[in-house]
Parts: sequence; structure tokens; C-alpha cells
Amino acid sequence: MTVHQWRGVIEEYRHLLDIPEGTPAVTLREGGTPLVDSGWLSGLTGAEVWLKVEGNNPTGSFKDRGMTTAMSVAVHEGAKACVCASTGNTSASMAAYAAKAGLKPLVLVPEGKIAAGKMAQAILHGGQVIMVRGNFDDCLRMARELSEKYPVALVNSVNPARLQGQKTAAFEIVDFLGDAPELHFLPVGNAGNISAYWMGYSEYAKLGKSTRRPVMRGFQAEGAAPLVNGAPVADPETKATAIRIGNPASWDLAVAAKEESGGSFTALSDDEILAAQTQLASKDGVFVEPASAAGVAGLLKAVAAGEDFSGKQIVITVTGHGLKDTATALEGFGQLVDVVVDADVDEAARAAGLA
Ligand SMILES: *Cc1c(COP(=O)(O)O)cnc(C)c1O
Repeated sequence: MTVHQWRGVIEEYRHLLDIPEGTPAVTLREGGTPLVDSGWLSGLTGAEVWLKVEGNNPTGSFKDRGMTTAMSVAVHEGAKACVCASTGNTSASMAAYAAKAGLKPLVLVPEGKIAAGKMAQAILHGGQVIMVRGNFDDCLRMARELSEKYPVALVNSVNPARLQGQKTAAFEIVDFLGDAPELHFLPVGNAGNISAYWMGYSEYAKLGKSTRRPVMRGFQAEGAAPLVNGAPVADPETKATAIRIGNPASWDLAVAAKEESGGSFTALSDDEILAAQTQLASKDGVFVEPASAAGVAGLLKAVAAGEDFSGKQIVITVTGHGLKDTATALEGFGQLVDVVVDADVDEAARAAGLA
């Protein structure tokens, strides 16, 4: 018996990807992530709400979609080393794909701001981690210059191969739903993802695989909301570290996605983001990292402001897995377990209120 296994985004969608012909796929079989229906959010809004759960990718975030293409092209072009700036997930992903490809991964991260899980991934996959006394934007500038002056391939989303891989998430959504949704919500940091989704939706509409393109609504943290403010933020600050970015590299593409789709950028407080993270975990069983909950927080905020979504079809991308940053997830919980009993069934039953 042969069982079909998802082959990863390059082999599944190669004919739709603008990468050099014959590029060998460096893959961990990323993509093919589930669209999970959100009973909680559908009930709350009267809409049909789907979660695109990108934490199910091999390294736990959507970054793997773009990393398979960026790393494959780098290998095809003969690279021996690669570099990225990262708030955590890009470095985790790059290090894993570099390990698979046999390249040397060099990671630039802002000092003291990386979630423990992501740091563990970068290190275990063999990344050489260099901490920079500065923020993500400083790291990205350095990564760009390193790749210009030294023989290392830059795999941040300024590398066009990244968006080629990332646009496959939009293809998967349309392939599953049979058309594009009416609305798409997602967090926005460096803005590569919203740009890639818009590219994917636009290409599928052009090919006649969908009859429409969704309204794109991007969400940023209040302390790191350059696209909402219309100006870069010098010292971005938020607990949602994956979107702690003050000067998005894909600024123009993101603005085009917003304008062409009739969408918007909205800022959310950290409290709103963290509350959405907790509720999503307890009501839908989907544990995401803080930044990943921004799209859900955005929907909750719009509903609270009186917006009517009844009858609409909405997809929310939840970008990365909750296990990457358990420290932030548990911050609001105080003492975690306050009941301790002897190894006695009756005592446990009494403590649980069953007896
Ligand atoms: C990278 C990342 C984002 C932000 O995506 P951009 O493409 O930088 O806008 C959001 N959430 C998670 C979990 C990420 O890793």
C-alpha cells in the first residue's frame, strides 16, 4: 500500500513558485497545515471562522514555508553559509533547514529578547548565535551588510524566495475552502507574511482558482505599530516578541495589500493580545505564541466595537506554536497548581469537587 505524504510546499506547488528551474528541494515537509474551525469565534460572531494553524509546521511557525524556498535556492546557487536577523522564529527555522542542507547558520538576535524555546531551537540545530546590543531592525541591517561583504546567503524575508514559499499558505486555504475567504486576519511584524498572502491570493484569482480576494486586516502591537502610525518606531516594545519590529522590510508591499484589498492595520495592547492567546487555548484547544494571537485579538476588538461579521467567512492565521514561549504564556497565572493531595483517590475526588 502506498500512503500519500504531503511533500512540502516546493514539491506540492513548484509550478507556481518563481524559483530557478531545477532547484533541489531542501524540505522538512513544511506546509499542509490544518484549517481548524473555531467554534468559539464562529459562535461569538455569527461568521464562519477558520484558524490556519501555522504552529503545525516543522519548527513551529510559518517561517518554514519561506525557509524551504530560500534555503533551496541558496544551495542551488552554491552557498556554504547563511545568515538571518531574527526575533526568534526565523533563526529557529533557518538553523533547522541549514542543518538539513549542511550549511553553516549564523543568527543575529536582539540581546535578551528571544523566547527560550526559539533560542533552544537555534542552538540545538547548530546555529551560531550572535547577540546584538540593539533591536531587530539593527540586526537586519547588519545581516544585509554581512551578506553583501561576505560569502553568506541572506534568508530574511527581503530575500524574494521567502515570499515565494510563504504565499503557498494562501494557495492551501483556497484549495481547502474552494474559494478565497471574505476576510483574512493576521499579525504583522516585518510584514513579509501579509505581503506573501496577498501575492498568493492574487495569483490564484488570476489563475481562476478563486472568484475573489479577501480583505486583508493586519494587526500590530501598540508599542510596535509603524504601519498603523504611518512612521517607523525607533524603540519597538511588546511582549509579543515575534512582532516587535519598528521598521518593516516589506512596508510597501504590506501597504499595497491593505489598499488593494480595502483592508486595514490596527494596533492592539499587549493585554488584548495575551487575553486572546489564553482564550484561544482554553476555548478552541489551540495554543499559540503571543504574537500569533494578534489576529484573534483583532477580531475580538472589532466585535467589541460593534462590527457585524454575521454570515462572513473569515480566516485567521495563527502564526506560531505556544510551546515556544511558555514563560510569557504563564505570566498572568500566578501560582500554577494550588492543590496538592496525598496519593489517595478519595482525597483527589474531594479536591476536584466530585465527592
Ligand atoms: C515572523 C512572525 C510574525 C510576523 O510575520 P511578518 O512576516 O514578519 O510580518 C508573526 N508571528 C510569528 C509567530 C512570527 O514568527
